[in-house]
Amino acid sequence: APFDLVKLSEEITEEMQMVAKQNQHIIYQHTGKESVVTLDQNLLKNCIFNLIANAIKYSGENTFIEFNTEITGNAITIVVKDNGIGIPEKDQKHLFEPFFRAHNTGSIPGTGLGLNIVARYTHLMNGSVDFKSIVNQGTSFTILFKRHE
Ligand code: ATP
Ligand code: MG
Repeated sequence: APFDLVKLSEEITEEMQMVAKQNQHIIYQHTGKESVVTLDQNLLKNCIFNLIANAIKYSGENTFIEFNTEITGNAITIVVKDNGIGIPEKDQKHLFEPFFRAHNTGSIPGTGLGLNIVARYTHLMNGSVDFKSIVNQGTSFTILFKRHE
C-alpha cells in the first residue's frame, strides 16, 4: 500500500537519534515534490533501520550521519552516509554474504546478518543496494528503486 516516505523517514530518524552515540547527529533531508511511494513499508523500514544502525555502530562520537531520500519521476533513492571506520577494499565484495564481518570491526559486536537482510528485502521490492566506502573515512549505502510506467 502507498505510504509517506518522508513521514516514515522522519520517524526512523527520531528513533535512531535516541540510540545514537554522544553527539552523533542524524541529519535527514528529502529531495523532490512527491513523498508517497508504493513499496512494502515494513521491509523498507527494516532496511533503513539496519543501515542507520550500522552507521551509528561503525562511526565514532561527534560525527554526522546523513540520511537522504529522493523521489523523482525515474527513481526513489535512499542514502545513508557516515564518517566512520569504513570497509577494507578486500572485504567489500563479501559484504552482503550472511555472517560476513569486515576485518576492521575489532571489538564492535555484530552477527553479520543486517546487510544480508537489507539485500534480500531490497530485491524483494525490485530494488538494488550498493555502497562506496573508504577505510577511516566513511561509508555510503544507496538503495535504489527505478520507477517505470
Ligand atoms: P548485525 O547482524 O547485528 O547487523 P553486523 O553489523 O556485523 O551485525 P551487517 O550489518 O550485515 O552485520 O554488516 C556486515 C559487516 O559490514 C559489518 O560487520 C561491518 O564489518 C561492515 N559494515 C556494515 N556497515 C558498515 C558501515 N556503515 N561502516 C563500516 N563497516 C560497515
Ligand atoms: Mg549491522
